[in-house]
Order: sequence, then C-alpha cells, then structure tokens
Amino acid sequence: MEEKNILKEKITSAPRSPGVYLMKDSAQKIIYVGKANNLKSRIGSYFTGKDTRPMAPFLMSRVSDIEFITTVTGKEALILENNIIKKHRPRYNVILRDDKTYYHLTIDPAERFPRLQLVRKRVNNAALYFGPYPSGLAAKETLRFVQQVFPLRSCRNRDLQLRSRPCLEYQIGRCFAPCKGLIDEEPYRKLVENSVSFLQGRRRSLITEIKAQMEEAARNLNYEEAARLRDRIAALEHALEKQNVDWGGTKDQDVLGVYTHDDSYQLCILFVRGGKLLGSKSFAPMKMKMELAEIISSCLTQYYDDGAQISSEIIIPCHLPDEALITEWLTDKKEKKVTLTIPSRGTKNALLDMAVANARSLWESGQKKEEQKAAGMKILQEKLLLAKLPRRIECYDISNISGKHAVGSMAVFQDGEPDKSSYRRFRIKSVSESDDYAMMYEVLARRFAHNENLPDLVVVDGGKGQLNVALSVLKDLKIKVDVIGLAKEERTIFSSKGILKKKTGKSEDRVYLPRRKDSIYLKAWPYALGILQRVRDEAHRFALSYHHQLKQKNDLRSVLDDIPDIGEVRRKILLKHFGSSKQVKNATLAELQKVPGIGKELAEKIYSRLSLK
Ligand code: SF4
Repeated sequence: MEEKNILKEKITSAPRSPGVYLMKDSAQKIIYVGKANNLKSRIGSYFTGKDTRPMAPFLMSRVSDIEFITTVTGKEALILENNIIKKHRPRYNVILRDDKTYYHLTIDPAERFPRLQLVRKRVNNAALYFGPYPSGLAAKETLRFVQQVFPLRSCRNRDLQLRSRPCLEYQIGRCFAPCKGLIDEEPYRKLVENSVSFLQGRRRSLITEIKAQMEEAARNLNYEEAARLRDRIAALEHALEKQNVDWGGTKDQDVLGVYTHDDSYQLCILFVRGGKLLGSKSFAPMKMKMELAEIISSCLTQYYDDGAQISSEIIIPCHLPDEALITEWLTDKKEKKVTLTIPSRGTKNALLDMAVANARSLWESGQKKEEQKAAGMKILQEKLLLAKLPRRIECYDISNISGKHAVGSMAVFQDGEPDKSSYRRFRIKSVSESDDYAMMYEVLARRFAHNENLPDLVVVDGGKGQLNVALSVLKDLKIKVDVIGLAKEERTIFSSKGILKKKTGKSEDRVYLPRRKDSIYLKAWPYALGILQRVRDEAHRFALSYHHQLKQKNDLRSVLDDIPDIGEVRRKILLKHFGSSKQVKNATLAELQKVPGIGKELAEKIYSRLSLK
C-alpha cells in the first residue's frame, strides 16, 4: 500500500518538461526506460489507461517506482534514453543484439602511412570503418582485393619504422614500400582515398577518377604508371560486373526490413551504396509486446548510436511516433541531411520487400536451429541416460605446456547456446608438475566447492581418466550431477601382418559414460553430438586463450626484467595502459612515451629491448 502511495505521489508530481522516465520493479531494478516531450502526460497515459499499447498494462503490473530525469529538448531525451538503455539493458526495452560476429575493415587516416586492418570491434572513433562483413572470410577477400588494386602497406607500425629493407610485399608489387621512403606521402594518400572510395561503394566515380589519372600519366609520357592505372581500372570493372544486384541511381541507402510473427520480430538491414547492394546485417530475433513503430525507433537509435555508417536515406516500413526527432538526431550525427522514407511503390518498395524477405528467411532458419537444438538435447538425455534434460551444460578443459602456465576453463551452454557471462577460468595453484588429472581435480573441486547453480550435465575434455577424476570430485563433495567425458578416439594402424604400426592422429569423438566399459559414438545423432562438440571447443578455446595470456605476460616480464628501472609498478602501468602484453610489444616509441610515469628515456629503453625480441 505504502509503495502504491509513493508511486501515485510521484506520478502526480511528474514534471511537464521533456525527459526520460525510468520504471523500476520492487527490487529497484530498472525494467523499462522511455522518453517523452511531456513527462507528466506521458506517464499519466499509462495509469489512466489512455495508453493502448499492448505492453502498457503489462508494465503497469510490474512497476513499483518511477524516476524522472528532465532534459531541455526532446533530442536530449532521445540521447539520454539510449545511453540508459545501453547501460542498464532493461528487461522490457528493445535491445538490439548482433546475431553473429561481424567483421569490419578499418583505416586510420591520422597515421602517416595508413593501412587497412581487419577488426571485430570499433575501438577508434577517429578511424574509418567499412562493412559489416558477415564472415572473416568475406572481409579477408575484400581486404585482399583492395590490397591488390591499391597497394597499401600491410605491416605493423613497428615494421614500418624498423625495417632495414622492404619486405616481400614490395617484391611482389603489393606495396610501394613507404618503410624505406620509396613512395611519397602525397601519392600514398591518393591510394588511401581511392581504397576508401572503393570500400564506400563509390566504384563508378572511382573508375572515372582513375581513368583521368591514367590519361594524365599518358600525357606526361609516364607509361609505366599509365599501365598500372589501366590494370587497376580493369580490376575494378571486373569487380563491378560481379555485383549483379544493381538498383540504379547513385544514392546510399540503408533498408530496414522487419519480419513479424506473433510477438517475435526479426530485423535485417540491407546496405545499398551507389545503387549497388553491398551487403546486409541481421540481429538476434526479439520477442516483445510492442508495436512495430516503437521497435523500429529503438533499433534505429541503438544501431546508429553505436557508430554505424549512416546513409543519406534510410528506408523503413512505417511511420514512427518520433520520426522528426530521429531524423534531426541522425542529421546531426551525420552532419548532412538524412531522410527517413516509407515507400509505397517503386524501387524503394521493392528494396524493402527484399529486406523483409531476408528477415523472414533468417527467422525461419533461426526457428529451425532452435528445433534442432531442442531435439539434440532430448537425444543427449536419452542416449547418455541423463537424469535431466541438459539445459545447462558445463565443460571443463586444462591447458599447459609441461605444467607451465597451467590453467583450467569452464565453458557454459544454456539451452544449446554459449552463456559467456558464466564462463570461468582457473589458474592452477596446487599442481606444479604436468599432471592433467590433478589439475582437473583442482579445477572441479574449486568450481563445485560452491554448490550453486549446478549444471544438468558436466562434460570433461578427455577419456576415462578425466571422467574418473570428475566422478571422484563430485563424490567427495557429495554432489549429484551427470558427468561424461568427451575425447577423440586414437586410431591404431596395423601392418598387413597384423603388427602394430603406429597410433595416429585422433579422429571421431567418443563419449565416455560412468560405469560403462565401452565408449559410445553419437555420430548418428549430429544435433546431439554438435552440442557437445561446440561446448568442448569453447572450453578448449577459452583455456588456450588464458594460457596464452599468462605466457605472454610472463614473456613480457622476462623482457622487461632486464631493464633496471622497470619494476612491478611500471610493468602494471604498461599493461594497464595498453590492455595486454601483446599491445605493449606492438606499441610504437611515440605511444610508449605517452604512458604516464614512463618518460622519454625509459620509453626508448623499452622500445629497443622489445624490438630485439
Ligand atoms: S614493403 Fe615496407 S611498408 Fe610495405 S609492407 Fe613491407 S615492410 Fe611494410
């Protein structure tokens, strides 16, 4: 009752200005964030029933408290709302999630001789990013093509500064060797500009520009350069021919298609650059009781606020409640006019249909995958004689080299998908020898010392030996959980006379079960085996990356140990500043000199010491 009165009081005293409202549950957790031009009337509409959106009564049944943050303009409210959503990820807001890892190509024009790199995340706001590319392979192919046509350097900054002579890239004509001053800054910049134009999809105008350069080179009797430009034009024309989806026009457009099924929404964005369809990006499907217009508003703000390239026209399927505000915000961000278009016919409508069709096929394949995962879990329960459906699976692995930098990992799958926030890694403390069984014992004993959030199934990477270790840990701790071992079978090859020739590389995965002499194959049930293999691969990857991290840290320590002025504190400063020992090793002299507490002289010592490595 008390709670209700406080809530009533807050609604009555709500400000009439623009701003953001934060709805909280009884545990004071933010469950929904919204914006309004007039907070009082917006909140009032929730409580008087004037808000007819399907989610309004649903929210009202859960809200216990409301907080208001006023802003001067509606645009400020939009930005603030987006920031709060990103920070708190409220349960009932639209949260845009990538459905897979996307790759980007990036180039930092601030560098003296910029280079193109393949990255997963945007980290440098000053750099230019291209993509997204749906796979590492697609991004690498584009990178390879661009480097062939526009021979930018591909080496690290350190190589650029330290090379005593050009590398193989120069010999094979894929770099003009700025490392040894064989190309000036100005022509190199031209190459950078051309490669940027190519990646931004401005291929026709790029060809026209290079043709003009070729003619000028020919006029100046520079036939070698003219021939090089001719080859570049031919390569670009060939690339243009391969792009078979041409929508005409020269505009840059993003097309946001949504497929709706009951309360599920699947989004897909198509990227049209200079009239050509250059690619697409999709997101994880969302299940919400919201109207399409609201979903699109939230998705637009979240997507473009994360640094995605904003095209001059964004095609969407319906009008938005805050259309003018979003248009203004996008225009400010791009610093050029941006239009939101809702087409009803013609080419734009055909593009929208295509985006929706893509979204639909994504949703359908997602549904199929869900069904396969459910079937896989059922088969696992049946074939491995598990007490429960293995909704939560934990898999353990050990990584070390002769006992050194020994680590253990725990990967977690929830309903057939990785739950990365639950992963754990263990630095082995009690075992110094190369004893995988003892290490596995330590890892499992530390994990299950906390008898909480128990999995439905424990998988250990290994055969009978590892399985028995796991069983004895669980027995010692009196914990009842199903355990299996997953290991690759070692194949034995005999000579024609039946003599043992060799034990070879490993082949198929076999599952080891407690109290069962022979291992079993799950080859006939690929959905089930697939789940086990994926969780095992994740545990393996996670253990290995931690092992490498420790090893690198140690390598860096041994290098820096020889420098008298570097102690534990400065080592930590360096690591904190660069984020990893790998980044410390890749740092340029200028970057090292910028580290607080390092100074010019010491930076030089570190730089030359690392260069010798
Ligand atoms: S030739 Fe020089 S600048 Fe070019 S990639 Fe090799 S080291 Fe780098």
